[in-house]
Amino acid sequence: MNYFYRCSECGNEYEITPDRMLCDECRILQEPDKPLRGILEVRFRPDSEGQYPGAEEVFRTNMLPVEPRWFPKIPVGNTPLWEPERLRRDTGSPNLYLKDDTVNPTGSFKDRASYLVAAFARREGIREIILASTGNAGSSMAGVGAAAGLDIILFLPEAAPPAKLVQALQYGARVIRVKGNYDLAYEESMKWEAEHGGLSRNTAYNPLTIEGKKTVSFEITNQLGSAPDAIFVAAGDGVILGGVYKGFADLIELGLINKMPRVFAVQAEGSSAIARAFKSGSFGTPVPTYSIADSIQVDVPKNGYYALSCLKKYRGECVIVTDEEIIKAQKILSSGSGLFAEPAGAAAYAGFLKVREQTQGSPGNSRLNPSSKIVILITGSGLKDIEAAMKGITSSG
Ligand SMILES: *Cc1c(COP(=O)(O)O)cnc(C)c1O
Repeated sequence: MNYFYRCSECGNEYEITPDRMLCDECRILQEPDKPLRGILEVRFRPDSEGQYPGAEEVFRTNMLPVEPRWFPKIPVGNTPLWEPERLRRDTGSPNLYLKDDTVNPTGSFKDRASYLVAAFARREGIREIILASTGNAGSSMAGVGAAAGLDIILFLPEAAPPAKLVQALQYGARVIRVKGNYDLAYEESMKWEAEHGGLSRNTAYNPLTIEGKKTVSFEITNQLGSAPDAIFVAAGDGVILGGVYKGFADLIELGLINKMPRVFAVQAEGSSAIARAFKSGSFGTPVPTYSIADSIQVDVPKNGYYALSCLKKYRGECVIVTDEEIIKAQKILSSGSGLFAEPAGAAAYAGFLKVREQTQGSPGNSRLNPSSKIVILITGSGLKDIEAAMKGITSSG
């Protein structure tokens, strides 16, 4: 296979090299306080006279642009797909599944991106990785970096939950606390990289972060024996969302599935830039955000344009949930299935409950058919934010 980058906006093609992050032509269109322009997608084509591999090879290799030997020996991905019998009964959804990404080595979905970035850094002989994170991307890169023998420099906002900070420090990352939010941490990490070099793992900016996250769609399809009908994904920067779409789009291109699942992007009421842009058609002036689901709280979604174009192209949908609904859903999920998710992970389930309620009583509903195959992406472990989880215990008994 021949792998290369293609600009998601203008179609320009580039070689996959460590200094290539955005499209040269589209990046100059960048406006302040707006999502990144010129996001690159990994594409592949068979070598001359070659063919696309068959299903067995596709699901074994995940069609990633770095050869298997460069990946650190750490069990990222291949996470279980739960069949939660009590939640199925309670929601009248006999084919409901939970994709449990809390069991990744550092407890979140972010390991999928860190894993590919770490492998790429090793192949290219790079030792140092720099990133800004609200918490999970940082603890993830630190943990996967520890397995891979890489040095991690992490810019972390002051408000990050303590468990995520402690994780990153345990794994041996150099952590720089930023007196401000994620957006400021991002700027500082970019300055550092410009001055000192190293490889950026900033989400969306490094195209491999989107590519690494696509593996979840490969796994789900393989586990179900077909693509799901619907999938609920929590969205902050919109990189998981973009990765989920990218994975299914690859499988369509490879001829292994024939339709794009309906993707529900779930956002918190206090941090809903993608949902608002989906409605209005453009990203307006950012508003200060807050959500109990810290992992999906971002003022300017870095992958906003790419996420929006996927939602439009494939007729996805945005769902907004309140913090109260998130906390409630977290408790319902824990006590109804045994899967304890952090608020951002539970947000996806809250989104499902909301749409389920809206479509109840209309069995032929095309938005969400209750008997169809529905997957909820559970992106992070509840143990990462105990303080948030306590709220659910006092409010719902
Ligand atoms: C990062 C994260 C998300 C959101 O991913 P984006 O790519 O920022 O949209 C959701 N849940 C958890 C647990 C996360 O860590």
